[in-house]
Amino acid sequence: MKIHEYQAKELLQAAGAAIPEGIVVDSPAAAVEAFDQLGGNPVVLKCQIHAGGRGKGYFKGYQEKPKPGEKTKLGGVKYLTNRDEVAQVAEIMLKYPLVTLQTTEEGQKVSKLLVQAAADIEREIYVGMVLDRAAGMPVLMACAEGGVDIEEVAAHSPEKILKNFVAPETGLHPFQARKVAFQLGFTGDQVAKAEKILMALSHVFLDKDCSLAEINPLVVTKQGDVLALDAKMDFDENALFRHPDIQAMRDLSEENPIEIRASKANLNFIQLDGNIGCLVNGAGLAMGTMDIIKYHGGEPANFLDVGGGVTPEGASEAFRILMGDPKVKAILVNIFGGIAKCDLIAEALVKAGKEVGFKVPVVVRLQGTNVDKGRQILKESGLNVLTADGLTEAAQKVVAAAKGQ
Ligand code: ADP
Ligand code: MG
Repeated sequence: MKIHEYQAKELLQAAGAAIPEGIVVDSPAAAVEAFDQLGGNPVVLKCQIHAGGRGKGYFKGYQEKPKPGEKTKLGGVKYLTNRDEVAQVAEIMLKYPLVTLQTTEEGQKVSKLLVQAAADIEREIYVGMVLDRAAGMPVLMACAEGGVDIEEVAAHSPEKILKNFVAPETGLHPFQARKVAFQLGFTGDQVAKAEKILMALSHVFLDKDCSLAEINPLVVTKQGDVLALDAKMDFDENALFRHPDIQAMRDLSEENPIEIRASKANLNFIQLDGNIGCLVNGAGLAMGTMDIIKYHGGEPANFLDVGGGVTPEGASEAFRILMGDPKVKAILVNIFGGIAKCDLIAEALVKAGKEVGFKVPVVVRLQGTNVDKGRQILKESGLNVLTADGLTEAAQKVVAAAKGQ
């Protein structure tokens, strides 16, 4: 689960990091008021959406898509010096969807702006923590060349990214933080300021079960301050039950409506780009099903794990979700009846099929407990289901069906 920049900064601040002053607003009038409250000094107006790359984004409908290499006329982060500009720019930002490299082509509607005191930037640094799955522990990454071009640095000069593993039991050690601060070129009293931010980043990452926590840029100002200017966080949803404070930060308007609906039904659902809907019980089987669909030349429309102990209600809701997606041209139901019995799943499918109708071909592969009873139920339902015994046969049938063969 992702949160907004202003929320991520609140967490960092609570853990001891220095951040610039800022006020969150939802209208141009409130933006002007915030500008006044911040002393009438230069501010940066920042669109609060869950996607990054806002600075280089553009507003769809307000301006043409910038050509490669062309500078955007107005991005989702804008430096402004007077009230009139603040009012005008806030109006545009709250009216047109913002398109960035991390949003869809349609862009994301902006409902909140962060009015932030502008910093006099001397240099921009990148620091971030992620889980290194190969090493099996969190890793702190840092780069002296931070800012909006970090992806290019990572792609062309990966050796410039410093990596330090962080033991989850202890968190980042102060000596590690100091070493990184020196490596990033901090000197004098800035070393301690940088260390404090690095320690805060590690604390938030571990205490809140983040899968990603990033400060880009961490800046040094001309006055010698060290500040977290931008922050991005992603949380492990399986650990959210431990963090009501983080759950309260959820902004559903930023999330895919189908995925929200699926999560309410306790389904693990991720939308993909293909046209074959998958309904599978168990994450491993779901991965295997996607692989075999691709192996036979098809493209999955989603990852969907209805869970090992799938209920008839869960299965019907999953089916309705897949049938409701206009991109889905065929559906593969692949169920291994263990805790959930095949006959129960078959009944749920028949019920859902009768309710919503089979608008696209449905291939069903059932195996496991009560499989014969399950197949019988499907056969007697009168519904037009294609059955398959093995996974290969099922994949071949569904790929052909999606192609209209
Ligand atoms: P994004 O990463 O989504 O593009 P950032 O918050 O990192 O958004 O902003 C992009 C760039 O805008 C930063 O690298 C920095 O140069 C500048 N910027 C952002 N906030 C401020 C600020 N408060 N003062 C001055 N410049 C800023
Ligand atoms: Mg940034």
